[in-house]
Amino acid sequence: MSSYLHDDPRMPSAWGPWFSHEYITYFSVQAVPGIMNLPPVRVMPNPGLYDERYPIGPNHVDLYKESYREVRRLDPLTSYDYAERNGEFTEEPPVQAEIEPWKILVIYSTEPDLELDCDLVLHKRQKITGGSHGWRHMQFRIPGLTIGMAPESFHRHVELANKAFGLGNDYWGWRFLSRATHYLADLGHPFHVKAAPFDFMLRTLLSPAKMLQTLSATHTGYEVYSERRFREGLPAFREALISGARDGESSGGDVHQELNSYIETARSRLSPIFRHLIRRFGQGLIDAYARVEHNSRTDIAAQTRMCSADASAVIFRESNASALGYLDNATAEILRDVGRILGMLFAEFASGYAGGSG
Ligand SMILES: [Zn+2]
Repeated sequence: MSSYLHDDPRMPSAWGPWFSHEYITYFSVQAVPGIMNLPPVRVMPNPGLYDERYPIGPNHVDLYKESYREVRRLDPLTSYDYAERNGEFTEEPPVQAEIEPWKILVIYSTEPDLELDCDLVLHKRQKITGGSHGWRHMQFRIPGLTIGMAPESFHRHVELANKAFGLGNDYWGWRFLSRATHYLADLGHPFHVKAAPFDFMLRTLLSPAKMLQTLSATHTGYEVYSERRFREGLPAFREALISGARDGESSGGDVHQELNSYIETARSRLSPIFRHLIRRFGQGLIDAYARVEHNSRTDIAAQTRMCSADASAVIFRESNASALGYLDNATAEILRDVGRILGMLFAEFASGYAGGSG
């Protein structure tokens, strides 16, 4: 298995540049032959299964990447916007087209980071997660409160996938499952399941602006770091995901039963990474996010993306090279767990899927 997602000739360059969730799903699914060997399915229109329990963002549109036209060649190392790709795609489902299920899983896994979960009023405390998007992609505890609903986002999408398969709409079955992989991977991401080390929270309690700026700097900075490593083709990330997914596939485990311990493990990994980021990149990294305005009407997620280039320049500065080895090892460990639970999820669908309206 030699190819890295961005070198895979089966993936048209119109779909690139590639982002972390796509790399994660790509390597994990490669380890599950039961999915890789499935024949292509015909593209179908959205069966319209979302309901009031999981409303979709008012600006969301389903784009169909099966129909593409390459219009540009973006530089992956400076691409931070999931919505901007080399290709342009259609809103009209290209119902004559066919696509392999594993490719659907890969190319739609970033969709939940677009408009799907944005601009919604979900909870009176959603400001803590920067808006409705963060609320659906995170879940952590602060004394007396649970913040965010990422596990529910995952469960909902598995349910939607099953419903679509039940209706004979296999295309959307895989596409909802792809969205489900996104939330599942987020739940294995330490910054999505824990806010910060306890002593840091105590120390900054009286300066909430500083607290929020440090939290988004470490969280987003860490994501900028791992995405760049994927794009550089770091072998350790690929190996961790593939070996984890093989393990998960053959374990016969049940994702719903293992979800809590998976989340707890990710939580336990936050503090050392957080401290490392602060110690090694310090004020430079925090300053990269100084432009983020927490009372602005622009979603925090969109604002922080604009700061990513500055953060990347700090993290990958020559003089910081010695700080990366620690992050590489810690991240490979995290990705092994993420691969494992994705392998388990894919194995469930590979065996439960009979094709057609089965
Ligand atoms: Zn997310």
